[in-house]
Amino acid sequence: MAALLIGCQEKPQIDILIKNINIVDIEGDSILNSHYVLIRQDTIFAIGDEILASQYNPAETIDGEGKFLMPGLWDNHVHFGGAGYIDENVQLLPLYLAFGVTTVRDASGDISLEVLKWRDEINERKRIGPKILTSGPKIEGIESIWPGDLEVSSSDELDKALDSLEILKVDFVKITDNTMKPALFMEAIKKATARGWSVSGHIPAALTLDQVSKAGQKTVEHLGYMLRASTPKESEISAGRASGKLTSIEANAIQMETLDDSVAMANFRQLASQGTGVVPTLLISYNIAYLDENEFEKDTILNYLGPMLKESYQWRIQRMATDTPEDRQNRKDGFEAAARLLPMIQESGMKIIAGTDAGYLNTYDYPGLAIHLELQKFVEYGLTPREALIASVINGPGYFGMEKEFGAVKVGKSANLLLLNSNP
Ligand SMILES: [Zn+2]
Repeated sequence: MAALLIGCQEKPQIDILIKNINIVDIEGDSILNSHYVLIRQDTIFAIGDEILASQYNPAETIDGEGKFLMPGLWDNHVHFGGAGYIDENVQLLPLYLAFGVTTVRDASGDISLEVLKWRDEINERKRIGPKILTSGPKIEGIESIWPGDLEVSSSDELDKALDSLEILKVDFVKITDNTMKPALFMEAIKKATARGWSVSGHIPAALTLDQVSKAGQKTVEHLGYMLRASTPKESEISAGRASGKLTSIEANAIQMETLDDSVAMANFRQLASQGTGVVPTLLISYNIAYLDENEFEKDTILNYLGPMLKESYQWRIQRMATDTPEDRQNRKDGFEAAARLLPMIQESGMKIIAGTDAGYLNTYDYPGLAIHLELQKFVEYGLTPREALIASVINGPGYFGMEKEFGAVKVGKSANLLLLNSNP
C-alpha cells in the first residue's frame, strides 16, 4: 500500500519548463548550450538537464531548440507623461513588453501618481506591463519649464519635498537645474543620497561633474554633459557660467575648441572611482541632431502610438524650426563629439547604463523600440554587443542595488526573460 502511494505521488508542480535552450551568459561572455530552465512563479527555480526536468510537472512547456534565452531588456530612462492623455501612456505598457523591455526606469513626468499606481499594480500582478522603477516628480527650482516638478527654493522646502518623495515610496530621485540654484542642487544630491536613494540628474552649468559626483550623484543623465569633463577648461568655464561672464554659447565654443582625450580619460577615471555612471540617451540626441536628414514621420511604428503623444513631438520640432544652418551643424558636431567618448567612458570604468528618453515630448524616440536602437548606436560608436547588453540588463539593476534579483539567467533570479531566435 505504501509502495503504491509513493508510485502515485505527483511530481512537484512548476509553471514553465523551457527545454533545450541556449542560455546567453552575458557576464561570463559565453553561450550555455541545451539547458533546461524551470520557472516557478516569477523566479528561475532550477536549471539543469533533462533528468532534472523530468522530476517536475510543468504547467507549460516551451521548446527552446535553436533559440537563445537572456534577461529581459531594461530601458533605464523613459518618460511617462502628458496629463491630458494618460490613456495613451497606459497603451505603452504592453508595447514595452512587445519589444522585450521588461523593466523601465521612469525619469519623471507630470503624471507621477498614475505611474506609481501602475508600478504597484504591475508588482501585484493586477496589470500587464514592464516592471516600473520611478523617480516620481523630479526636484527643480521655482517655475521650471516642466510641469509636474517638485519646485523648491530653500533648504526647508527641499526637506519637505524629500519627505513627500518618501511618502510616495519613489525608487530613485531625479534632480534637474532649469531654475534650481547650484548650491541648492548640491544640497539636494547630498540629502537625497543620505536618505538612501540613488540620485540622477542633469549637471548645472555652474558646477563641474566632479563636484556633483563628489556630492553623491550616481548618474549623469545624457552623454553631452561628459564633454564638460573632456576639456582642461572645465573649472574655468563653470566659474564663467556661475558669474555670468560666459553665455552658454560662449561656454560651448570654448569647450569644443579645447577637447582633450587625455584630460577626458583622467576625469572619467576619477568619476568612476567615485561611483558615478552615465546614462547616455544617445538616441534622442541623434534624433534631434539629425532631424533634418531623416524622414521619421514615415516610421510605421507611429501607428502604435496615440495621437496626442505624437503631437507632443512638435514641441521640440517647433523650437528648432528657426535653427540656422550653423545651429544645425553645431548640433551634429556636438553629438559626434559626445558619441565618440563612449569607448573611453567604458574603458575608464564608469558604468554606462542604457536608457533612451523614450516617451512623450521626446521626438521620434519610440517606447519599446528605442532601447534596441540605443544599443545599436552604442555598438556603432565603439562598444561591443556584449558591453551594450551589459549596459541594459546588468548595469540597470546595478543602479538600484538589484543585482541579486536581475541581470542573468541563473537560479533564484527573476524570470523576466527573452526567448530569441538568434544570439544577440
Ligand atoms: Zn529624460
